[in-house]
Amino acid sequence: MRPRTIIYIFVICSVFSSRAQNTHKESSDSHQLSFENIRLEFPNIQPEVFELLDLDRKGLENVKKFYGEGNYNAAAKALLNYYKSRTFVNHPDVDLQNIRISKEEQKWADESLTHRFFAHKGYQPSLFYGEDIDWTHWPVKDNELRWQLHRHKWWSPMGKAYRVSKDEKYAKEWVFQYLDWIEKNPYMEKENPEKNNLSGKEAREIENMRFAWRPLEVSHRLQDQTWQFMYFLPSPHFTPEFLTVFLANYHRHAELILENYSERGNHLLFEAQRVIYAGAFFPEFKDAQKWRKSGIETLNNEVNVQVFNDGFQYELDLHYHLASINIFIKALRMADVNGFRSEFPQSYLDTLERMIMALIDVSFPDYTMPCFSDAKAVNKRQMVNNFKDWTTLFPENPYIQYMASEGKEGRKPDHLSKMYGDAGFYILRNGWKEESTVMVVKAGPPAFWHNQPDNGTFELYIRGRNFFPDAGSYVYGGDEEVLKERNWFRQTRVHNTLTIDGKNMEETNSTCLLWDISNNNVQKLVVENQGYPDLKHRRTIFFVDNTFFVIVDDAIGTARGDVSAHYHMSEGEMALDHKNKRLTTRYRDGNNIVVQGFSPESIQMEEEESWVSYEYRQKNRRTGFAYKTRKQSDHTTSVVTVIHPFSKKAPDITAKYLNAGNNEKGVQIALTINKQKYDLYAKW
Ligand code: MG
Repeated sequence: MRPRTIIYIFVICSVFSSRAQNTHKESSDSHQLSFENIRLEFPNIQPEVFELLDLDRKGLENVKKFYGEGNYNAAAKALLNYYKSRTFVNHPDVDLQNIRISKEEQKWADESLTHRFFAHKGYQPSLFYGEDIDWTHWPVKDNELRWQLHRHKWWSPMGKAYRVSKDEKYAKEWVFQYLDWIEKNPYMEKENPEKNNLSGKEAREIENMRFAWRPLEVSHRLQDQTWQFMYFLPSPHFTPEFLTVFLANYHRHAELILENYSERGNHLLFEAQRVIYAGAFFPEFKDAQKWRKSGIETLNNEVNVQVFNDGFQYELDLHYHLASINIFIKALRMADVNGFRSEFPQSYLDTLERMIMALIDVSFPDYTMPCFSDAKAVNKRQMVNNFKDWTTLFPENPYIQYMASEGKEGRKPDHLSKMYGDAGFYILRNGWKEESTVMVVKAGPPAFWHNQPDNGTFELYIRGRNFFPDAGSYVYGGDEEVLKERNWFRQTRVHNTLTIDGKNMEETNSTCLLWDISNNNVQKLVVENQGYPDLKHRRTIFFVDNTFFVIVDDAIGTARGDVSAHYHMSEGEMALDHKNKRLTTRYRDGNNIVVQGFSPESIQMEEEESWVSYEYRQKNRRTGFAYKTRKQSDHTTSVVTVIHPFSKKAPDITAKYLNAGNNEKGVQIALTINKQKYDLYAKW
């Protein structure tokens, strides 16, 4: 972390003269508010704002004159008039001539009028935060619920609802909530608060501050408040006094980011992009240039730090890979519409293009992507819209065009299977169409908080169905109960990989021993990971005839215990044949697979608890099982798994590990599928 200011100060924004109790009556419109008795008195002008602005700028002459004369009211009025008529700043995200509000956004806007706030998608219906808003309300101790409350995700929908309906109730309520939030969430700086043994009110205030003022949340508000500023500016409730409060608050937000950038990862990217927004959207601030420069420098640096040479973002979570692409692009768009694109070098665009190409490769033909790590599921509509957006930045790239047009224009990538060795994503693919087969294997280097101990796992898509969706993440962090749920989904054993005694792997640092796709009939991948101090997992995958897969797992080392190769299936009815170690899916559309396990040792097929989560706090039960064998000596213990698609009758399969126990430099498997023989070997 960058050093924080070590000063012991307590800052409360003294914006308000007092709270009004049962006295405030509105006369400007006929709308009756539900919370009339807790309205705030109107704020005072914040004269310090004029010192934050460069009053020598063109258009601010009157502001400067009135401020110089000590006439703050007239200066604030002149400033508001300036912003209402300002046209030279453009915003890439808001088109005031063409505002559209979705049903969902309208709902969030309307709910907020009665203080039911859309704080988090995983906690619906929206929660009630009290007539007198309690910004510390935290019914489920999930950190995300409390952090994200302070992103005010319903405020921009309120702005859209206001513009579309012209109903002042949205503007009035937004101004009220804005002021209420400032009053109840003061920013404080404390030196090591943990050491101070604080208790009671002060401890609660500090705890709240950590949620309300986490840099990521600050940056979220920094971005979204540029939109809200545009939406609500014409309202009579957006008074000159309020403008000064808004700008003072906004300035503090931007300054705090610069002092408290997150150390790394997607948080840092978000923060940098949003200070660029701040600097570009409010160039009147004396510090605006500094913000913009800081954001651009950070992104120009991080695009090299956070993106591997192969194009993947280093958190190894495809959701954040996608988010990072869009962060980099947002910064560019803001630069484009306001004329500072040249501050980004060509290499920034080249990296961005590589990131998109990596995303195309890791996508299944239905535009979904593996839910490895903390990733959430994406859908086709969302991704097609992304690709459409990206074609405008890379109009010459035929592959992005192909994805954007759903194959109608442009060109599909010239390759099928592809390895991304830096990030450790290996894609075995036989086509780009809906009926194709695509396996994505994850076997990468160490990563950070979002990454899971799952090396060797995979997702497998065949003809429109993902037969092995990753468990997902279900929730992020929180109290013990929340963490227990998170940790269940993080376990190694709930992934399609190998464990000893069901324990989580301790190291996630795979190396690739072999990637050979030169023979189209048998493509080969060999990866290994020293997951435990005394056990290395080596996984060999054969993609045979562009149709089926043979997975050879070797548990190498001195460890003793139960070695399990786990498999977790899509939802739906499955038939388990324990005797023959065989699982058969029973989908009625005829798109089915059989999974069958073999081993030189004696193995058992055991059912395991299994869940899959595609969205936050949503989970479905599904079938999971493991091929389990006992490792009793230093000898390598092995399991061979065959995954074969079928439409009518599942094939008969036999597999024999020919060089089991003597496999340091290669594996050799004799296989029959309905009496057809295959000799498979991989050497490294
Ligand atoms: Mg996972």
